Amino acid sequence: MKMRTRFAPSPTGYMHIGNLRTALYCYLIAKHDHGDFILRIEDTDQQREVEGAIDLIYQVMEETGLHYDEGPDIDGGVGPYIQSQRLDIYHEYAQKLIDLGGAHYCFCEGELEGEDPCLHLSQQEIQDKLDAGISHVIRQTIPTTGTTSFDDEVYGHIEVENKTLNEGILIKSDGYPTYNFANVIDDHLMNISHVVRGNEYLSSAPKYTHLYKAFGWEEPKYIHCPLITNEEHQKLSKRSGHSSYEDLIEQGFVPEAVVNFVALLGWSSPDNREIFSLEELVEA
Ligand code: GLU
Repeated sequence: MKMRTRFAPSPTGYMHIGNLRTALYCYLIAKHDHGDFILRIEDTDQQREVEGAIDLIYQVMEETGLHYDEGPDIDGGVGPYIQSQRLDIYHEYAQKLIDLGGAHYCFCEGELEGEDPCLHLSQQEIQDKLDAGISHVIRQTIPTTGTTSFDDEVYGHIEVENKTLNEGILIKSDGYPTYNFANVIDDHLMNISHVVRGNEYLSSAPKYTHLYKAFGWEEPKYIHCPLITNEEHQKLSKRSGHSSYEDLIEQGFVPEAVVNFVALLGWSSPDNREIFSLEELVEA
């Protein structure tokens, strides 16, 4: 199978160093293997939408030389590559998942505490509520017994008890998917072989395993990257003044130097070499 990675930023208006490192590692492992590097825009959080943010992503990709093989403006046949243009696809697969028993309609308001009462609605009750236009979400259905496991290239074998996994929302009441649903659907339909992302998604990954299993799909390989921290081991906050690509460019660093710097946040050459061009990083 051809190596295919994806960088999947949300249009937040700036490029955090951690995101840039994810993009770079996606690019490097794909190009080292003569595979494809894909850009996907994850804009399903309508409240977080920022004007011009997508253009900014294109600009950073261009300036850093992280040229993608497929993306919103380069069709590779598995698009659209902007999530807000894929709503029909998510609805189709949510319905499939309900039929397969991996999800259910939920009409509860607010956060759930304990088991979802909607799990016990009859087919007729569900239909009546839908016909009456009652606001609803689609939630993942997760067994309460047993365990789930998966392997991560960085963190190794991970196993959790199913009862610790909450039945999160897959489709919100506004019809948009959550990340927890869209990432699985898209990574599968876009034939992604290696998922490289920040470790903030590690704890949700067992839920994704359940989704892949319910659909009968093969899981990609996971590479969760540890958080980038400051000298005090705290998360690099936006306030630090050097947390984003834009911050560093503003301080006078050239894009090549930023790429070089970011590459070494989480990797080092066995001979301690410190200066690499992008091509040399691909090679190494
Ligand atoms: N949209 C997510 C983010 O920006 C992407 C996570 C992923 O790579 O799957 O954090």
